[in-house]
Amino acid sequence: MTIDKKVILQKATEHDSFYLYDQKGIISAAHELKDNFLGVEFLYSVKANPHHLVTKTIFDSGIGADAASLWEVLHSRDQGVPPEKIHFSSPGKSINDIQTALDCSTLVADSLGELERINNVAKDRGQKARVGVRINPDFTFFGQWGDPSKFGIDQELFLRRLDLLAELENIEVIGIHVHVRSQELRQAVIERYYENMLNLATELQNKLGRPLEFINFGSGIGIPYDKEDIPLDIPSLGAAMSKLIADFRDKLPQAVFYIETGRFLVGKNGVYVTKVMDKKESYDKTFVLLHNTLNGFVRPSLAQMVLSYTEDLHPNSYEPLFTGAKPFEIIPLVEEKDLEQVTLAGNLCTAVDVIAKDIMLPILNVGDALLLTNAGSYAAVISPMQFAHLPTPPELFLTTEGQVV
Ligand SMILES: *Cc1c(COP(=O)(O)O)cnc(C)c1O
Repeated sequence: MTIDKKVILQKATEHDSFYLYDQKGIISAAHELKDNFLGVEFLYSVKANPHHLVTKTIFDSGIGADAASLWEVLHSRDQGVPPEKIHFSSPGKSINDIQTALDCSTLVADSLGELERINNVAKDRGQKARVGVRINPDFTFFGQWGDPSKFGIDQELFLRRLDLLAELENIEVIGIHVHVRSQELRQAVIERYYENMLNLATELQNKLGRPLEFINFGSGIGIPYDKEDIPLDIPSLGAAMSKLIADFRDKLPQAVFYIETGRFLVGKNGVYVTKVMDKKESYDKTFVLLHNTLNGFVRPSLAQMVLSYTEDLHPNSYEPLFTGAKPFEIIPLVEEKDLEQVTLAGNLCTAVDVIAKDIMLPILNVGDALLLTNAGSYAAVISPMQFAHLPTPPELFLTTEGQVV
């Protein structure tokens, strides 16, 4: 995090709770990927954080869009992303989605039924739609088998139904998309996945009998949330990927290689700030009550909820709602050095609204500000801000020039 504490404290005099996104950090994360993954194009998963200045910054760095809804397609188009760099991939697209997105994005069909529906829309217009297909492959991040999934078309089924494709005269399959897992921090696992993907693409291309024009590898690149997490070595992973695609270049001569990421670009480049509104003792416990926690930044409360069901210190993740036991750091913005044990709760009328239990923090008083890290991705967008109609925390954006807008 490169945000200056003075900027945060200044904004905390104006707002009781708010997000602050850091443009400098976002740009540098974009460069880190682009500079290390030679021969690879990136797509930003807009759902991670669709704030218009966040997406503008990312698109201006030459990254395209991974859109999960028609809104995200149109948002990316309006910010100047060309159709071939907007991949619209989501399970379940309505006819209206298909009609509206057909000309301004690359549709990635998620089922055989959807391939037929796209074909019908294209036929009505006398067009030939150039589409991708999302494949549910016969490998995962854990081994060489497939898992049942609501996403995509099973590899085996797709190959078995190539006859259907031949009948759909108004579509042309020009690419494939796979995404099976997020938040992976083991380089060897990601490398094996990339290699599996290249083998899959080669096999499908041969069976389709035409060169694939794109291969979308989906996501997987993780970020450290907990202090114990070891970050990926991006230069090393990028070099491995660049070597792999060089090795497959002869087999896949026309393919553009895309990697998607949401969290890597924004996850660590956003903070959530909240202020103490009350403090009380109850049966020997000290409660510090904060503005807008569950309803402003839901992930910390969700983590507490998951932990309350298990003794396991590392429960399985359930992205993007639950990543791990300590998905953020709490940084009190106070001079105070003396510590006390407190439970941090929010002002919402539900007992679930607790973000930390019995932790040692510098003594906090009403009006003091506290910062939560890792609030750039899957944060504002997934928080139930309408709950109880408490004030909505603004999403602020710190520009490279140091202005907050
Ligand atoms: C959400 C999503 C991503 C982004 O995942 P991150 O872990 O944030 O990088 C990428 N691809 C698809 C298809 C997704 O649904």
